[in-house]
Parts: sequence; C-alpha cells; structure tokens
Amino acid sequence: MHISPDIRSLDIKKLEKILLKQNFKKYRANQINDWLTKGGVSSFHEMKNLPRDLISFLNSRFIINNVDIKLIKKSKDGTVKFLISLCDKNIIEAVLIPTEKRITACISSQVGCSLDCDFCATAKIRRMRNLNFYEIFDQTMILNAESSKLFGRSISNIVFMGMGEPLLNYKNVLKAIEMICSKKGLGISKKKITVSTSGISKIIRLLADQNVKFNLAVSLHSAIEKTRNDIMPFSKDFPIVELLDSLNYWYKKTKSKITIEYLVWQAINDNMQHINSLVEFCVKVPSKVNLIEFNEIGNLKFKSPQNMWIEKYVEILKANNISVSIRRSRGKDINAACGQLANKI
Ligand code: SAH
Repeated sequence: MHISPDIRSLDIKKLEKILLKQNFKKYRANQINDWLTKGGVSSFHEMKNLPRDLISFLNSRFIINNVDIKLIKKSKDGTVKFLISLCDKNIIEAVLIPTEKRITACISSQVGCSLDCDFCATAKIRRMRNLNFYEIFDQTMILNAESSKLFGRSISNIVFMGMGEPLLNYKNVLKAIEMICSKKGLGISKKKITVSTSGISKIIRLLADQNVKFNLAVSLHSAIEKTRNDIMPFSKDFPIVELLDSLNYWYKKTKSKITIEYLVWQAINDNMQHINSLVEFCVKVPSKVNLIEFNEIGNLKFKSPQNMWIEKYVEILKANNISVSIRRSRGKDINAACGQLANKI
C-alpha cells in the first residue's frame, strides 16, 4: 500500500518545485507553509486562500498528520498532564506546569525511551520511535492553546524533560526548536528552552559546534562511575571523564552554564563520598546543581533519602561556591512528575 508523505516532511524549496511542475504558482508554497506553521489546520480544505484544484492536488499527494489530545488530567497543585496521540496511534505525554511568573511546558522527544535508567518509569516502555520535528512542534502548539484556555497565558518556558532522550533525536529537536522560537511559533527566546540529556557526550560536542542557544541540563545523579553505571547502565558507553570534557567544550562554545540534575537515594548516593565527588565534578565545569525530589515508581531499590542528606548536599555545595537549588516535585498525584511519564492514566 502506498502511504502519502506528510507535507511537512518537505522543505519549502522542494514544495515550490513540485508546485511549479504542476503549473501552480510558486508563492502558493509560502501560503501553504504559513497555514502549516500556524498550527490548528488539520486538512488542506481549511487553507482558505488556496484554489480548489490545488487543494485537490495536495489531497492526492500528501497528508497532514496532526497530533491529538486524548486525555487531560489535572493535579491538585495546578499541573496538567496531556496524553497526546500521534497519527500511528502511539501515545506521548506532555505536561504544563504553571507558577505565578511562568508556564513551563515539559515536552517529549521520543515515544518511549531507549535508555535504561533504572529509576525512571519511561525507561520501562521501550523506544518505539523518534518524534518528527513537526510532531514536537505540534505538541508544543497544542499545549500552548490549552495553556491559553486553562491559564489565560501562553507558554513561557519549555523543557525537553518529557519522554525520551532528546539528544538521540537531536536533528528533529533542533528543527522543532527553530520553529517554536520563530514568529510563526511561540516567538520565544531560545534561552527559555532547556534540553535535558542523560549525558550523550558525543552529541553534546556536536551541538556545541552548531552554535545552539538553548540551555543544557545533564542528568548526572552520581559522579562516581560505578554507581552511575549501576543505576544508568547505558552510561558505560559514556564515561564520566568524557562527559566532563564534553560539558567543558559546551561551555567554551556557548558560554552558558550547565545545569546538573541530581537525585538522591537512600543507600545509593546519600554519603559523603558521593557529595565530595559531585563537588569535584562541579568545580571542573561551570555549572549549577538542581536537586530533584524523587518520585517513587514502584522499584524498591530506590527510596527517598532522609532530609538531612539533602541538607548536607546543599550545605557542602554552597560551601564550595557551587550554586544549588531544590526542585520540588509537581503533579505527583496524576503521574505527571519527572520520571513518571509512562502512559499511565
Ligand atoms: N532523557 C533525558 C530527558 C528526560 S528528563 C534526561 O535523562 O535528562 C527527566 C528528568 O527526570 C531527568 O533528570 C531524570 O533523571 C529525572 N527522573 C527520572 N526518573 C525520575 C523519578 N522517578 N523521580 C524524579 N526524577 C526522575
């Protein structure tokens, strides 16, 4: 069976060529592109300024695969989780996190995840596929429309901390970020976007070379190789020295500090050796630490630490002039918190 391609998989030059070959005017490509990037259009019929014969032609050759909200769950703390279905019926999740000053959208870059972090619910569903750039864009725009409805405000910040490892789908992520930041998207600055990675050092270097402007966050969780390899087995391929090197390279190129995301667990990293290793890591690269509150996912190996350990981390990091903040969990009651995105309703 022949499946028509999604029209957004073509760039505008290619579309112009196809249209010219069929004797349509070149400027029609721009009109089509305008409709597509504005979002909210799910068929060619809705493109009001196109002639009928062009609409028929487009219908015969292309499709528009829009994403669709399947379910909305609201948390007591204001966080809202969305289950979003894709054209092939795969489901991803995205979250809106409102505060007084910001609306942060936490968005997905893959269906499932190919990494194997033992403490993360998303890792338990295998990676089905990467999202296309327009699926990431659509996801953001659909969330933005919901944000206006729910909070009367647009999305102000975006974090790639939903499902998946964005650096293993970086081409689509980069394209989507361009569209999101353009006037046709949200028109926000790239500085309002944070891409979070589990630490794929090769791609961190590659992105640094591309002069990207967004913020980088790295999920470290342990600066001791053996522990990190235990809880994030894939990291055996990305040794800590290489990660550190790639982060320094990132800083050299972008001049932007790296956020180190860090979870603390009982009998895993709630000890002085781990605190000292984290300090050692952070003094080697311009960074700030974000201690994340752990959300239980039913794996008994991982338990939240006693509060005194969080306090110890904060105290010792501060004593070494390393900036540190604690990220309180949001949306736990609806399985919308970090590491809980696993299509559980
Ligand atoms: N793959 C990327 C993007 C996912 S971001 C990355 O790892 O950075 C999700 C963030 O939530 C990461 O910092 C991850 O380590 C953290 N996380 C995963 N499971 C968690 C859990 N159960 N509780 C709290 N945070 C978790």
